[in-house]
Amino acid sequence: MPADPSPGIAGETPARSAGTPQRSAGTPQRSATDRPPRASATSAVEVRRSNRRSRTVSAYREGDRTIVLIPARMSEAEEQRWVNVMLDKLAAQESRRVFGDSELAERAERLSAQYFEGRARPASVRWVTNQNTRWGSCTPAEGSIRLSHRLQGMPEYVVDYVLVHELAHLLVPGHGPRFWRLLEAYPRTERARGYLEGVVAADRLPQLPAARGE
Ligand SMILES: [Zn+2]
Repeated sequence: MPADPSPGIAGETPARSAGTPQRSAGTPQRSATDRPPRASATSAVEVRRSNRRSRTVSAYREGDRTIVLIPARMSEAEEQRWVNVMLDKLAAQESRRVFGDSELAERAERLSAQYFEGRARPASVRWVTNQNTRWGSCTPAEGSIRLSHRLQGMPEYVVDYVLVHELAHLLVPGHGPRFWRLLEAYPRTERARGYLEGVVAADRLPQLPAARGE
């Protein structure tokens, strides 16, 4: 029995299962147990097989979906197992939800590629702790984006929204119709704005014991 390595999000090395028979990549017929892409309770899961990926498994959220990248030669059984491992891992990580500046920059790059065809290219993306009245800010002349540390611990789609918002400012300054048309590309804009408005509103409410129990 090969021991499983401890999984992480950015790049996994699944156990090299000694002698596990692999289906050849060109096999046309599919087994009767094939199913459409797995779906969890909250989001769809899309498994992408890559020929260039030989030993690593990784996973990330993309809007409402979860993308799991696996080596092309992985068996169906291994795929199932690794999808479950990565879903658990993502969920655990999101419940901690503190990532650093480098992951922030990676996310920004991915979001720019996904929603703006890569046209928004920030020179720097980082967390700041001195920004308490704005969730994010952007200096287009410098290409710098800053996110308030207050976003840490909020759902991923909210952090992504703020990133997408600031990325859009690299393309369109101000909040005119052109700006909001750009933001329509991000499917959870309205929901994320509602979440942030709720956070602001809750800060102004009289403190409720139940809501502040620490
Ligand atoms: Zn703005």
